[in-house]
Parts: sequence; C-alpha cells; structure tokens
Amino acid sequence: MTPSASQEPPGAGLGDRFGRVATDLRVSLTDRCNLRCTYCMPAEGLDWLPNPSLLTDAEIVRLIDVAVHRLGVTEVRFTGGEPLLRRGLVEIVRAVAGLTRRPRMMLTTNGIGLARLAEPLAAAGLDRVNVSLDTTDPAQFKALTRRDRHADVVAGLAASAAAGLLPVKMNAVLLRGVNDDEAVGLLAFALERGYELRFIEQMPLDAGHTWRREEMVTGAEILAALRSAYTLRPDPDARGGSPAETWIVDGHAAVGGGPARVGVIASVSSPFCGACDRTRLTADGAIRSCLFSQEETDLRGALRGGAGDEELADLWRKAMWAKPAGHGIDDPKFLQPARPMSAIGG
Ligand code: SAM
Repeated sequence: MTPSASQEPPGAGLGDRFGRVATDLRVSLTDRCNLRCTYCMPAEGLDWLPNPSLLTDAEIVRLIDVAVHRLGVTEVRFTGGEPLLRRGLVEIVRAVAGLTRRPRMMLTTNGIGLARLAEPLAAAGLDRVNVSLDTTDPAQFKALTRRDRHADVVAGLAASAAAGLLPVKMNAVLLRGVNDDEAVGLLAFALERGYELRFIEQMPLDAGHTWRREEMVTGAEILAALRSAYTLRPDPDARGGSPAETWIVDGHAAVGGGPARVGVIASVSSPFCGACDRTRLTADGAIRSCLFSQEETDLRGALRGGAGDEELADLWRKAMWAKPAGHGIDDPKFLQPARPMSAIGG
C-alpha cells in the first residue's frame, strides 16, 4: 500500500493514508472477564482498569453517536473483556438502537449469562452474537478457561438462537497440543445446531507474552482437518472487509435457510490488513486504529473536558488517519502492544 502524502485526514469519515475507510466500530465495555483462558489471561486475572477511568454508559452512547452521525460508522460490535459483565449493557444497546442512523449491533461474548440476557438484548435491538467456544468437551473447557462453565456457554448459544440473534456465530481458537484435534468436532457441534463457526488463528496478544509463531495452529492446518470430514466449497459471497474467509459446507443447511458456512480468520498467516475497516474504542475511552497499534488517542479527557461532538470527531479522524499499513507480526521489529487482547477489546 502506498501512503497518501497529506498530513491531515481529508474527508468526513474515518479514512487513513492508505485509502481504507473504517465503518466498523469495536467498543470494549470492560476489561474484566469471568473466564481465565490460558492463552489470554493469567489465573489470577489482571490489574483491572480503575472504575473512574471507565467510560460511563452515557459517555459510551455519546461516542457511538459521534461515530455514527459524524464519522460514517455503520456497525458497532460490543466486546471486552466480557461485555455481559457490564451492568448497563441492555440499556446501552437500547440507546444505540434509538439513534437516528441506527447501526447494526453485534456482541462478542463468552456466552456466560447469555441464557438470561439473550432475550432482553434482542428486544433492546441487538442484531447478532458471536459466542466464543473452543471445545465441545466440558473437562477440556475447564482446563482451558480455568472455570467449569461449559454448560452455561452451550445454554447461552441456544438462547441466542431462540431469541432470533441470527446467524449465531461461534468463535474458536485452536491451541497446539491442547484442542488442536477438535476442528472437526467443533464444526459438527455447530452444524448440528445451525451455528456458523469461525476459527481464529492465535495472535500475539496474550497477557503472558507466551505466543510463538511456530506453535500456532495455522488456518491451512485447520482447513485440511475440516476437509478430512467435510466437503468445503469457496463461498461465492464477497468477503468485503470481513476478517473471515468463508466456505460453504456441502450438504448442510444454516438455520433460517441457505447453505451452512464455516470461516477461518487467518490474521497471522494470511493478513487482511489491506481491507481492514475497523476502529476500536477501549473501555477507558482510547481510540486504537489497529489491534496491534503501539499508539492510542485518548478521547475521554476531551469528552470530560467539555469537547463538542465535532471536536471529538476530529480527534477520532486524526487517530485513524495514522493507522499503520499492517499489523507487522512478521516484521523482526514487531512489538506486542502493551495492552493485552482483553484490555483492547477482541
Ligand atoms: N469475552 C468475550 C469473548 O470471549 O468472546 C470477548 C473478548 S475475547 C478477547 C474475544 C475473542 O478473542 C475470543 O473469541 C477469544 O477466544 C479471542 N482471543 C483471545 N485471545 C486471543 C489471542 N491471543 N489470539 C486470538 N484470539 C484470541
């Protein structure tokens, strides 16, 4: 990609020097989580962000309003940490659903508590969920997440489908020597229930900095395993800015009609940075142009200092204009960001 020579963002939206325009906003609602997945967080948790530094519900809605009405954002995904731990979640969703240019709203969650919340969230205006589940085996789940909550996640998935949060998508990370034999089993689980499964390559974003590229289970390996049991055809639907490359699973149907799909998000082995359309807001009010950015732009200070909407929009545009060309994981000088995935918003 060739950068534009201009030092300043030209348009009204969230363009960058490489011609990309961000329209998909990821909002982290908390850095806390009720699981302790070994590849994400240490057993004892992390030093959580202090409460006063967290954006309030009203501040979050205000910034989403700015993003939607002044910056061209059309999709909002709530994440964390674990977004279901945010008390005001249903009310935040309701408020965003009431915006004049209502964005599509999604939630990425570990599913614990979703059995109770799926219905109220759907009624408030949530469109869809992605539920993370790395194993079909309750004992493996307990070892991997350090919590015995497999049944809660399975119930949360079912409740999401019943509440019409369709398609229900499932996210799975495979770890070498842990659950790397589960690709086919996870797909069978998803197909039986009509969920759309996505495998995510493990990225260098763990709090313990233990990621090793040579240990990562690659997208190619996952596809080879799936092809041993299923016939996969390239998905004719355009990928667009979506991180997942998807395949049609021959002979299987999705809930609500149409063919069943499976996806692989090969962020490391097959980066899709050139088509990235994402912008991120952390729970403490910082804009990140990329999961792997070394830099962030604080909006909370300006917000609490009385900045108007256009001033906030301008800070946001400048932050996104500086978005790097790519995540640079393969660069020998690559540095893992200071914030782990749970504090950025995955
Ligand atoms: N708690 C929510 C959940 O479990 O979906 C939202 C946050 S979590 C960080 C979002 C997703 O990131 C989960 O699917 C999780 O498995 C994935 N994840 C966490 N650490 C990762 C890593 N190092 N590489 C790839 N995916 C990771």
